[in-house]
Parts: sequence; C-alpha cells; structure tokens
Amino acid sequence: MGERASTVSERQLLRALTHDGCPVCDHLRNHEAEFRFWFIAERYHQRELLDALTNSLGFCVDHGELLADSPRSRSPMTSAHEVVSRRTLSRFEAGEIDRTTWSSLATCPACASFERAGDRTVSFLGHGLETSAAEYGDPGIACFPHFRSLAATVSPSLFHTLLPVQRRQFHDVRKTVRSMRENPTTATDSSLPSELETALQLTVGHDIHPSALPPPDVDPNATRDPVGDFTALLDSGDGCPVCLEVSRAWQTWLAWLLHADCDGDRLHDVLPTCREHVWGCVRYGDTDLAMAIADAASDPVARRLTRAMRLLDDDPESREDVSATLAHMDSLRRFVPRLRDDGTTRAREAIRRPIRCPVCDRMETARDRAVELLLALLEQPRFRRAFEDGYGLCLNHCSYVLARSPSPESAALLRSDEAAKVARLQWELREAQRKQAWDVRPERKGTEQRAWLRAIARFSGRYTPLPPDDAPSGER
Ligand SMILES: [Zn+2]
Ligand SMILES: [Zn+2]
Ligand SMILES: [Zn+2]
Ligand SMILES: [Zn+2]
Repeated sequence: MGERASTVSERQLLRALTHDGCPVCDHLRNHEAEFRFWFIAERYHQRELLDALTNSLGFCVDHGELLADSPRSRSPMTSAHEVVSRRTLSRFEAGEIDRTTWSSLATCPACASFERAGDRTVSFLGHGLETSAAEYGDPGIACFPHFRSLAATVSPSLFHTLLPVQRRQFHDVRKTVRSMRENPTTATDSSLPSELETALQLTVGHDIHPSALPPPDVDPNATRDPVGDFTALLDSGDGCPVCLEVSRAWQTWLAWLLHADCDGDRLHDVLPTCREHVWGCVRYGDTDLAMAIADAASDPVARRLTRAMRLLDDDPESREDVSATLAHMDSLRRFVPRLRDDGTTRAREAIRRPIRCPVCDRMETARDRAVELLLALLEQPRFRRAFEDGYGLCLNHCSYVLARSPSPESAALLRSDEAAKVARLQWELREAQRKQAWDVRPERKGTEQRAWLRAIARFSGRYTPLPPDDAPSGER
C-alpha cells in the first residue's frame, strides 16, 4: 500500500544527511500522498487491502478524514466500504463482533503501511551507516522516534558511534530552546522560529502524519453539564457520541492551554510528548507555548539519552577499542546468551523505554468516562430509546464498548443497533454503485451519493459532526 512508490536507496538516505532534519521523516514526507494515490488508483479493490480493512474495521480517524478530504476518493471509498460493510454484517450475524473483537483489531492499513515504510527506511539507513557513520549528524540526524528504531537494529559498534552524536545534538538543541525561553524576542512574526521547529522535529519527529484533531473550543469558560451534554449527543444523530466527547475533551483542554501561563516548567506535567499531540498544539498555539512544549517534550528524551550514555560508559567493553572487539563479541553473543546482559544491551533498552504523553492519557480518560456514562445510561429505557433513535456508535467505539463487559441486555442492544445501522449504510452504498451504471442514468441521483462519507464516519469515527446532506457543496 504505497510501498511500491516508497523504495529508497541507502545512497539517497545518506545524501539526505547532508541537510538538516531526519532523513527517515524526510523520506516518509510524501508517503501519505502516495498511499492515497495508489489507494484511489488501484488498491481499493485488492484483496489484501480489503482483508486488512475488514480486520481493522476501517481506517483510523486520521486516515479516514484524509481520504474523505478528496472528492476523488468517492468511488473507491464507496466500493471498499460496500465490501467491508457487507463483511462486517456477516461478522455481526456470526456473533464475531463480541467483547474480544476490540483487543484483536488490526492496525489501520494506512498506518500499518506508514509504519512498514518507516521500518524499512530505518533499516536501509542503518545499513548505509555501517560503512559511512561519519556522515551522521552533519547536519542531518534521525529524530528521536526513528533513532529508537535505528538503535535497536544497528550493530553494537555503530550504536557506540551514533549514541554520543545523538546526545550531543540533542543537548545543543535543548540549550538553544532554553536560551530562547530566557531571552524572548519581541518579534511580531507569527511563524515558528526555525531553531524551535528543529528542536520539535528532533524530539518527536517531523509533522508528516495526517491529523484530524479539531481547533480549540471557542468558549473555554462555558459551564458544563457532563451528563446533560452527553445525553444531548446520544440522540442528536450528529455522529458517534464517544468520538464527539473525546473531541470535546481535546478542544476544551487545548482552549485552556492557549490561555494558560506557560512560563517556566509549571505546565510540564500536562504538556504533550507524542508527535500527534505536540504538533496538534503547536499548530494552534503561539511561539511561547511551542517553546514550553519543546522544553517539556525533550525532558524524557534527554533523560533516556543520558542514561544510555552512562550505561555505555560503565561498560568495560566500551572502554576498549570498540570497533575491533565488538565484531568478535557479536559472534560470541550468538552462542553465549549471558553476554547479552551487557552495557550495550541495557543502553538500547534505556532508549526504548516508552514515554508517557499526558494528552494521550487525557484523551483515553475522556473516552473511558464517556463509555462508562453510556453504559450507565443504557440501563434506563428512555436512554436506550434515545440511543436507538440517534446515531449509535462508530464501529471502533462499538467494539471498544463491547470489550468493557456491558450487561447482556446492553451488549445485545449495542450489537443489534450497530448491525441495523451498518445494514442501512450497506444498502445506500450498493445504491450509489448501482446508479453509476450508464443504463440507469434516467434515475435521479440523491443522498446515496454521500454514503461514502457516512461510511467513513461510521467505520473510522469523526471528531466533528457530518454536515447534513443539503449542506452547500464544498462542505463535508
Ligand atoms: Zn524521523
Ligand atoms: Zn491510520
Ligand atoms: Zn466513535
Ligand atoms: Zn499524545
């Protein structure tokens, strides 16, 4: 999926090191456009993609939105979702959408393709660096997420060469951000200073993955009625209430952040550290906020790099002539597993330790709170009726709610309601396909022509309500 266009040579990657930025991110920059191109051109009816989409219950919300953004997706998305919704209905009938479905959902095929392309590019880069490591960091250097993958795959001797370079560059960039924060300029230019952009790129990777995160809430001070607001979503028919609740959590959090005082490190515990949320905030915030985020997000990275360096320094192996001895050690390690517990292995593990993102946690909490409230409300007949009359859930959240052990009555309702809504959607998708035929041209086309957008929303979820069918064209 897009792989064909993503081939890259070691030489190209090494050449990319002659300019700033991460060579892997740089190569992946066009991946989304390539994926979309190949999906629209031919992949949408290939078995491999349809199987993957069936197993993941559609694209993720970000890729769903990306594909919904182009009118050229209409026919391929109609066709792919017609198949996937038909198969999903069979899975409902066979009792296969149950409480274990969510835990075994496959990754969105577009995300999986992006990850595969990243792994392949990292492995090419690692291979190229084995013979010409001197190019690394001069000035091009892997972002920390790609350095993690690189560190796991390269030989110990190359790891010993790359780690100090990574740490030094990171240290320099961090110093730059700190001094920018201490000596703020009064520049009126609203664009992100390039040093700051570099710091963010090195810390979380470049801003190259699609994101459907909406802008901040317009009224951060509005009083909230959590139960009342959620029940209003239940029968509004606007979209999946869990998606909309997660979106609301993001929007109110972002609105709060944009008004918060970001001096010093008082916001460190709430600032994002993952790529999606870092760039999501930077997109809507000012330079002061971007500096605070760069500072906070680089903290755990700096700790991991420093710890890894210390583990290497404590390692007797690394004090010897590393390149001469490690090749020998590598061959020994295959036969003597005990030798694996050396400084190099522990340093690699230190690099790979996961980094918690407070915003990811916040979004997960919002989702779980919404699901708990939904399950509580479904115990009451009037809310069960509201739920049935309303939108229901997106498929991802339907399978997530089923995984949370609802009462047998609620589980039966969730399954039958979702199956009924998918069945109607499936009919509309078939109708849209039927009306593409030349011999039915006397029949007037209608709202079934937008069934592909409803299919994306039903399978992938959506952070904003889908505009009504009679909305002016151009709006989705
Ligand atoms: Zn990268
Ligand atoms: Zn995806
Ligand atoms: Zn949802
Ligand atoms: Zn996050």
